[in-house]
Amino acid sequence: MSATDPLRFDLVVLGGGSGGLAGAFRAAEHGARVALLEPGELGGTCVNAGCVPKKAMWLAADLAHRVGHAAALGFAVPPRPAFGWRVFLTDRQRYIAGIHQSYRERLDRAGIVWMPQRGRLLDARTVETADGVRLRARRILIATGSRPVRPDLPGAELAGTSDDFFAWCDAPARVALVGGGYIAVELAGVLQALGSAVDVYARSPRLLPNADAEIAEQLQEHYRQLGTGLHLGYDLAALERDGARVRLRADDGARSEPYDAVLLAVGRRANTDDLGLEAAGVALDERGNIAVDARQDTRAEGVHAVGDVTGKATLTPVAIAAARRLMDRLFGGRPDARLDYTGIPTVVFAHPPLGGVGLTEAQAREAHGERVRVYRTRFRPMLQALADTSLCSLFKLVCVAEGEAPAQQRVVGIHLIGEAADEILQGFAVALKMGATLADLRDTVALHPTSAEELVLL
Ligand code: NDP
Repeated sequence: MSATDPLRFDLVVLGGGSGGLAGAFRAAEHGARVALLEPGELGGTCVNAGCVPKKAMWLAADLAHRVGHAAALGFAVPPRPAFGWRVFLTDRQRYIAGIHQSYRERLDRAGIVWMPQRGRLLDARTVETADGVRLRARRILIATGSRPVRPDLPGAELAGTSDDFFAWCDAPARVALVGGGYIAVELAGVLQALGSAVDVYARSPRLLPNADAEIAEQLQEHYRQLGTGLHLGYDLAALERDGARVRLRADDGARSEPYDAVLLAVGRRANTDDLGLEAAGVALDERGNIAVDARQDTRAEGVHAVGDVTGKATLTPVAIAAARRLMDRLFGGRPDARLDYTGIPTVVFAHPPLGGVGLTEAQAREAHGERVRVYRTRFRPMLQALADTSLCSLFKLVCVAEGEAPAQQRVVGIHLIGEAADEILQGFAVALKMGATLADLRDTVALHPTSAEELVLL
């Protein structure tokens, strides 16, 4: 082999985030010779500017709420205990550095060639790294993720995005969040709990338009009670500088109060620039994501894509699951392996957390009309009752009935908001995926006293 010959692999992976790493590890387990290209930190958005630092901030915010409960329950807590954001940041980043280290060790152990480089497809079998090394591969996996959208508005550069939030070392006094989706809701909850005055400006008439409507309404009620300003149905026209602060200008010309910081959380866009997709014959869909079929195959034979770059259920565990099944199919002798994109549970780390799996009530009614039965309970978890807060949980089951008997009512949706909703949902998602009926839930003996038991007592 001469110095200019390409290096040969069974699989070259572009992107070392959740999907890329999962695909590389699984392919290597099946004996494939794998190279992984990632110019940034290993772990991608999830580890570095998403799930992991977000959950850390959520835990800090949750503690802030619990300190309030502790004070109400007789603990001697100062009225406004100070939060050492910088101290917490050190712990958060140490935790993340540990994840980086463990990924590096796993890559080494798996014999995966990791190159801290951008890659570009020259054709459907060849990748060139930024410094000109050519890699030939039987298969290429594109897992380059997504980045926050910056809308084309006057003054948009005055705002930050979630990426900027994760670099903050303190809570700004007044913050505006633009958007009504996952990120706006999660960051609003964190910032409010950690001491900022927060306003959310959402274009839609309610927060989380894709969540079950009652759950989203309950969230709105909680956020209002906590003092978060909700400006729903708000059309942002521009951002304007006001000294060191920033104001929002609506479509009707009205200007907001000035804010110390504005964060845009208006969706994310697939990272497809400068990947050589055209040269390889990889097509994009109408939203600019890499078009893939149900098996994660792109239009170019031998080139596959998973995760945010495909725009399909853009969640870390989905990217991981899709990548593993793809590698089981390509290298593991499982020709039918592919991810079933139905029944994917999701959780929003709001305060309190909320989540759902399956059909919302509205979706179920549209699909099944009169056969839909809804069971719900609103209750105050014990800690909230003891501390005498107004925080309620709302748990909902959406069933489709073949008859009125509980055994004839299949659970097609489970939607929760309240303490521990994030932890409770996972197990119940298994039940839904297995086709549980209302009778199956009711036949299960409750765990008492918990919030989770409410779902088997409906
Ligand atoms: P989302 O898709 O959740 O929400 C986007 C929001 O931005 C919507 O409220 C949308 O309004 C609004 N919007 C879009 N364009 C504009 C615009 N031009 N002007 C004003 N508002 C606009 O995106 P996020 O950025 O919150 O999150 C991105 C994705 O990341 C999520 O969809 C999710 O897949 C993932 N994620 C998952 C998390 C989790 O699992 N816990 C946490 C965080 C992110 P409208 O409804 O009117 O279109």
